[in-house]
Amino acid sequence: MTRQLIAGNWKMNGTLAAAEALARALLDAPRDGIGAELLVCPPFVHLQAVGRILNGSDVALGAQDCSVAAGGAHTGDVAAPMLPELGCTHIVLGHSERRQNHHELDETVREKVVAARAAGLVPIVCVGETEEQRAAGQQDDVVGWQLKGSLPNDFADGPGVVAYEPVWAIGTGRTATEDDVAAMHGFIRAELVRQFGDKGASVRILYGGSVNATNAAALLGVPEVGGALVGGASLKPQDFLSIAR
Ligand code: PGA
Repeated sequence: MTRQLIAGNWKMNGTLAAAEALARALLDAPRDGIGAELLVCPPFVHLQAVGRILNGSDVALGAQDCSVAAGGAHTGDVAAPMLPELGCTHIVLGHSERRQNHHELDETVREKVVAARAAGLVPIVCVGETEEQRAAGQQDDVVGWQLKGSLPNDFADGPGVVAYEPVWAIGTGRTATEDDVAAMHGFIRAELVRQFGDKGASVRILYGGSVNATNAAALLGVPEVGGALVGGASLKPQDFLSIAR
């Protein structure tokens, strides 16, 4: 069985000094009992500094977004080929906060996945329904369409990750129940196999949304859960490592 991936999404938090301290704390902490792969995704402006600290360690570095373009006249954007230079190996794409705050469509997310892949990055593509959509019983339809629209046809040909993050569970302290997670992860697996054939069986599927040191063991034990995408709790090194443990 492949190891689980515990990914920390630092979002738009922290000063440079805090980001460096967090990275150092992760490296200094004991590793006993941690079998999972570790990844942190700091804000763009802290990537270089955190990358220097993590360089050569067992904690990988990722970005939280990139442009669809490989370079050029795109004021304020960051091109995917700029990221590996800073030490990035992974990239979170299509997070619900970007879908909501920046009106990112599935098609945009798909173009970003293509750009990230071309730069050699492992894309972590986020999908998930809103509270209203779940209340209306539309979660499978919504996530199914997001998977179809956000993943390019060759997604399963290279390393790629899908993160199921129900929007109502992000930053709210409310997690999906183990049954809901099992149902959705089973649905996503079936969709991936339908879309990509056998190769869809090896795409890692993370759960995200208020994962913390207390609920992690149960959520990470659900079938088809290949790891976690952790927001708030990833800002506390001990909590992040307890989740990984
Ligand atoms: P949260 O965020 O753990 O703070 O709910 C998860 C995410 O948005 O990736």
